[in-house]
Amino acid sequence: MASALLEKFRDRKLAIRILREIRGLNPDRRVKFMHVCGSHELTITKFGLRSLFPDWLEVISGPGCPICVTSAAEIDETIELAKRGHFITTFGDMFRVPGTRTSLENARTDGADVKIVYGVADAVEMARRNPEREVVHAAVGFETTAPTIAAEILREPPENFSFLVCHRLIPPAMEFLLASGETALDGFICPGHVSTIIGSKPYGPLSKKYGVPQVIAGFEPIDVLLGVWMLLKQLREGRREVEIEYTRSVRPEGNVVAQEKMSEVFEVVDKRWRGFPVIPRSAFQLRREFEKHDARTKFDVQVESMVGFAKGCRCGDVLKGLIYPPECPLFGKTCTPEKPRGGCMVTTEGACNIAFRHERPHRDR
Ligand code: SF4
Repeated sequence: MASALLEKFRDRKLAIRILREIRGLNPDRRVKFMHVCGSHELTITKFGLRSLFPDWLEVISGPGCPICVTSAAEIDETIELAKRGHFITTFGDMFRVPGTRTSLENARTDGADVKIVYGVADAVEMARRNPEREVVHAAVGFETTAPTIAAEILREPPENFSFLVCHRLIPPAMEFLLASGETALDGFICPGHVSTIIGSKPYGPLSKKYGVPQVIAGFEPIDVLLGVWMLLKQLREGRREVEIEYTRSVRPEGNVVAQEKMSEVFEVVDKRWRGFPVIPRSAFQLRREFEKHDARTKFDVQVESMVGFAKGCRCGDVLKGLIYPPECPLFGKTCTPEKPRGGCMVTTEGACNIAFRHERPHRDR
């Protein structure tokens, strides 16, 4: 089985060598690492990396899918704006994520104007072409996509255009997980895309405060294997620091221009994540100077904040790395990508969706 999986690797010999090195770093106890990135989960599941790891090593998925962590309250806000007759634009995956009672998809069936766009520039263009309508773009994502929103704001979009900002920040969620102790973790594989923007520095305090090694890794299977090997090497050598495996894209200082644009446009606020309580300083909101483009201020939208899980859905536990998707009793039965019960099954970056599409044994049950 393992050798059949290894056939998928472009550099099979290198993969075998790294796996041998990983086994050689056996710390004589169980080790649990977490990644916080949908693309890492896709690589790990699609290439069957978990079955290649030794028994003592576990790599679990955390809150790495921005759509999955968008709260039911934010979906409800978007639906409320649609019901008031505003034109809503968003990215495809947001469309089917359940809010407290319904989704944007259902709101559209009931007559709301909801349009899927492929980039925020398309949403702004829609506002220009429809000056008689208020166009609201539900902006979802981590630090990777926030600079695009900031750049669009700085370009001064038309008066009839606003954002419902739902952007989240990854390092505060990692800190929440470490501080809560709910999931005992020995290290993090830090996300490659987010780190191209923020660099490696924001992770540093976590290594210092909680004594965990961290490695920013790329998305090829070899990158992930190397990331795991680097984490184990830190454990063996007693080091607790942030290292970059993904050196072809990530610099320690990150993308300084993007960071400047983000801090010009956004301030950092506390926010509830789906499956989590309020996480301190974990989200962006528009600064007061840009409030004419802030849908929450412009339309005074207020919804009752609810937990927003379907009965039996264990998305919260999946997002905290407490269970693997197939451990949810609804997985593959009443919850499938065609009929998702939770956000983690809706989007192709969600752990449940990835497990359903790429884990053969579960698909064959
Ligand atoms: S399988 Fe479906 S119901 Fe279960 S945790 Fe995942 S999204 Fe929620």
